[in-house]
Amino acid sequence: MSIILVHGSVETSTEPPFIQGLETAAKKGYDALKASNNRLDAVEQAVIELENNPLYNAGYGSVLNRDGQAELDGAIMDGVSGRFAAVAAMKGIRNAVSVARKLMEDTKHVVVAGEGASLFAKEKGFADDSCISPEQMESWNYAMQLLKEGKQLDFSAYTGLKRETDTVGCILLDDDGNHAAASSTGGSFLKLPGRVGDTPFIGGGIFASADCAVVCTGRGEAFIQTLTAKYVDDGIHAGRHPEEVAIEAIRRLHRLTGEYGGLIVIDNKGRTAAVHNCDRFPVALVRNGKPEKVDPLRL
Ligand code: ASP
Repeated sequence: MSIILVHGSVETSTEPPFIQGLETAAKKGYDALKASNNRLDAVEQAVIELENNPLYNAGYGSVLNRDGQAELDGAIMDGVSGRFAAVAAMKGIRNAVSVARKLMEDTKHVVVAGEGASLFAKEKGFADDSCISPEQMESWNYAMQLLKEGKQLDFSAYTGLKRETDTVGCILLDDDGNHAAASSTGGSFLKLPGRVGDTPFIGGGIFASADCAVVCTGRGEAFIQTLTAKYVDDGIHAGRHPEEVAIEAIRRLHRLTGEYGGLIVIDNKGRTAAVHNCDRFPVALVRNGKPEKVDPLRL
């Protein structure tokens, strides 16, 4: 049995184009898995598909920081070897997940950040890309205008002013019962330059082990401080059902930080959960190559 589950983050629109984008990504992941039988190829390809789609806050179409730049975080983790790698606050390169994978496979490092991440990517042949879509530029200009006029900004920190779009993540269980996880984001709108969210924090926003794969989304600071991804892994390792653990993890996040978010998780029995405490949480699942409906649980 193989399962690929992807999310487009909390507060992202659940209108058809957003769901279709996720379904296409899950299918791309499955096709990559079939072609190479490599779980990292599968999660990477699913995430690349979403990074290339301007509808989501990852890669091209990322939300812009305070200074009008896209700074990307991305991570990948293999549940079998425990290998993990991430890039943080990387400018000028689109596919953060692929740079993270290169880092994992070509170096002994685990995280590279900022200028160093961009330099590493360029040395590995990744193309220059500002990742700034016209819609996100327009949102940023509008926000600057409102600020200049001394007006309140009424926007989602996750998705920016105009677009209901956010972080993406993918988790997988392959036919051999092995897990992998990958995640990518432009982070939060108008963040400080250099700010890093939970996406590239092992145990905060992402984890994969022999027991499960999990990726989180929402207010990154809260997921880092509560080590929510590792909390979920620990619960599943203790023999608990993924949904029960996911519910508890989101309730705990809210109790400890007052913040909002969601997560997706899959265990080695093929049991999945998608839980959040926001308004929306679009997800898509492909089981053995076939799309399957998932209803995320809203707390
Ligand atoms: N967790 C991401 C961050 O804080 C944003 C999100 O997933 O909504 O960078």
